[in-house]
Amino acid sequence: MIQSRVHVSDLREHVGRTVTVFGWVNTLRLQSKMQFVVVRDGTGMVQVTHKRDDGPLEARLQALTPESAVKITGRVTDAAQVKLGGLEIVPEAVEVLNPAATPLPIDEQTGIEHRLDWRFLDVRRRPAAQLMFAVQTTLEQGLREYAYAQGATEMHTPKLMGTASESGAEVFELGYFGRSAYLAQSPQFYKQMAISAGIEKVFEIGPVFRAEPSFTSRHATEFTGVDVELAWIDGVDDVMAFEERMLTHAIAKVADTHGEAVRERFCVEITVPTTPFPRITMAEAHEILRKGGWHPKGIKEDLDPEGERSISAHIRQATGHEFVFVTHYPVGIRPFYHMRPADDPSVTLSFDLLWKGLEITTGAQREHRYDVLLKQAAEKGMSPEPMQDYLNAFRYGCPPHGGLGIGLGRVLMVMLGLESIREATFLFRGPNRLTP
Ligand code: ATP
Repeated sequence: MIQSRVHVSDLREHVGRTVTVFGWVNTLRLQSKMQFVVVRDGTGMVQVTHKRDDGPLEARLQALTPESAVKITGRVTDAAQVKLGGLEIVPEAVEVLNPAATPLPIDEQTGIEHRLDWRFLDVRRRPAAQLMFAVQTTLEQGLREYAYAQGATEMHTPKLMGTASESGAEVFELGYFGRSAYLAQSPQFYKQMAISAGIEKVFEIGPVFRAEPSFTSRHATEFTGVDVELAWIDGVDDVMAFEERMLTHAIAKVADTHGEAVRERFCVEITVPTTPFPRITMAEAHEILRKGGWHPKGIKEDLDPEGERSISAHIRQATGHEFVFVTHYPVGIRPFYHMRPADDPSVTLSFDLLWKGLEITTGAQREHRYDVLLKQAAEKGMSPEPMQDYLNAFRYGCPPHGGLGIGLGRVLMVMLGLESIREATFLFRGPNRLTP
């Protein structure tokens, strides 16, 4: 630790004293009589003001380039005329710890794709991007806190699998010592195995891989999933109740910690939702959409993005709520392991959670009865052999259970009003992007 380092946000407490600031050169204004250097660290920016004197300091400052890493020692002075916090540093020593090459490859006007090429500079230079990662950290902390408080166990399930999970579509295949392995599309099967292993409440925050060639603002080929699975449930309502409380707790924590900064940097208000969240069935959702004159393209049973937005807008209008659970998805668009209600085998005991028009979660009660599971898999044309390890988990007393999967990047997108999941990810992975 550098003993004498003072963060920019703390400089006010050091007026009249000599301190050392570490940071990057944000901007340079080198005038005929004066040299102004704005230095930025993770906490803010300060102006370094030097009157030209033909001395070594002048030469040092003159040679600086934007984004060079510097150590500046100087006296903190009250300077009401300086817009940046009404302070300046009058330098006594300037050290360049690492000069930045010129010119910089990106600037304020650079578009997202090129910014992603230079993501380290993009994040370093934009306080909003820095804030996004602080929000992500607090959000994850809040989600974990809630899960721990409920007695959930945090698991780390394998991402390398010997057989493709779920459908086999959208799965990345890779070489594995002379045979094929697959990257996990979700921790679904392993979470359920943990339930069968007697762990009553399971959660995991980890990478999820999807080999889908989606070029949207909300799809990545690798993203962070927040997965939960709960045993001995009475029904899928228990799963939704867990999720709405978990999200509410985490959102409240973010609002508390970063609400003001988010308002300032992203111009959005983080509203802590009330529980329970509104719930409507998929059939009701279709009814609402039809009344609104919406005709799904090529009639799909699922909601398309426009449908999701319309449903959210409708619920917002009717209830003032930003969230809505859409329940009872038809069997045709849900995986074989979703449980079906005894009185209506055409639907599943499943849900999606929409937040401000975007799907952020899919969840369901799972079918835990081996024979029913086999039947449902067969109906979907799936053969049991490749999944036998999974299916075995249901042959020896696996309790009723259900769970959910949240996309962390999607939550951040909605929370901060970001245009793309690319902004909610450190290093985005998509069909056209494997670098940096
Ligand atoms: P979508 O219909 O939006 O493609 P999905 O139904 O395939 O999503 P699930 O498989 O249910 O999604 O995954 C659970 C959650 O993970 C989703 O609700 C979403 O928040 C997130 N998610 C799914 N696919 C992606 C992706 N490609 N990129 C980022 N997040 C994703």
